[in-house]
Amino acid sequence: MTEVFTIRCKGCGASLVYEAGSEKLKCPYCNSEQEIPATYDGIEEIDLESALNAEQMAKESIAEHTVLSCRSCGAQIAYGKVRAKCDFCGSESISEATLQTQSIRPQGVLPFSLNVQTAQELLQQWMKSLWFAPSDLTRRTRVEDLRGVYLPTWTFDAQVQARWSAIPGYYRTRTERYYDQAARSWQTRSVTYTEWGSPVSGYHQDFFDDVLVSGLRSLPNRYLEDIGEFPTTTDLRKYDPAFFLGWDVALPDKPLTEAWQEGYQRIHDMTAEACKRAIPGDTYKDFKMQLRLSGLTTKLIYVPIYIVAYRYRGKPYRVVIHGRSGVVSGDRPISWVKVGITVALILAGIGVLIFLTS
Ligand SMILES: [Zn+2]
Ligand SMILES: [Zn+2]
Repeated sequence: MTEVFTIRCKGCGASLVYEAGSEKLKCPYCNSEQEIPATYDGIEEIDLESALNAEQMAKESIAEHTVLSCRSCGAQIAYGKVRAKCDFCGSESISEATLQTQSIRPQGVLPFSLNVQTAQELLQQWMKSLWFAPSDLTRRTRVEDLRGVYLPTWTFDAQVQARWSAIPGYYRTRTERYYDQAARSWQTRSVTYTEWGSPVSGYHQDFFDDVLVSGLRSLPNRYLEDIGEFPTTTDLRKYDPAFFLGWDVALPDKPLTEAWQEGYQRIHDMTAEACKRAIPGDTYKDFKMQLRLSGLTTKLIYVPIYIVAYRYRGKPYRVVIHGRSGVVSGDRPISWVKVGITVALILAGIGVLIFLTS
């Protein structure tokens, strides 16, 4: 496939690649280096309402980009090297396509700092920890298939004001008399019950900075949530395609309207959790919350992940590694045969134990 954007090595003319953990491009042949003049300045937050209504986000033409397109999950991956499988679903049904659309111009990029060797070691460790995985899983998940991909991600900022009310409950115990049929006598026992208090209410305000939502339909947001925070508020660089050289880049296919529905839900849920923590007592009922959002902004950025996708019995499974912290999260197919054998062994162990102690 043709690489569109290239920076040549001044020494030997080969294509330079971005080296994870540095702010530099490196020549894979003669090891000469070149700085990326990366800055933090000029990363713009875009007013959400105008972005949603008027689609007023700056776009860039990617008409000449050659991309790999997956017929199974729809992911489109640019800049990468030729491969046999889709990064995101493991399907082999991929083809080269020339993209004829315009894409929203990203504001920022969070560069990789974890190199591929370290990521492969982390994947290997993770696979060793899978007790109940089918035996042929290690054969299917090859560490060489791990790809470093820049994932398009929507960010949302919001000032949040919430009024809430609830009825707090307090756990109490009382001693109760009851007639024991077996013993044919009156006995006492302690019973736990909830005493409901009078309604309480409160006010909570907060500022959310960079709530992240995956910009790719093929990769549900839970994978992003599982590998933890991306330091976008401190380490984000202004968009520069130099950071993409030698890496895969997934093109965004989740529209802002759809991403905002998910973003709103996350902000709503996190605010509700914070309000609920302020309710006195042991439990509560009739929780109500009125949420007011202001100062809403958005932007499209790219965050670094390593991913390996494989198919097991027709279903896609993925392992995702944070491209900076190395946190691993993945789907674990379970071998019920192995679970069965283990349970049988545990039961047998208990049997032996009972036999020995009796
Ligand atoms: Zn060179
Ligand atoms: Zn796919």
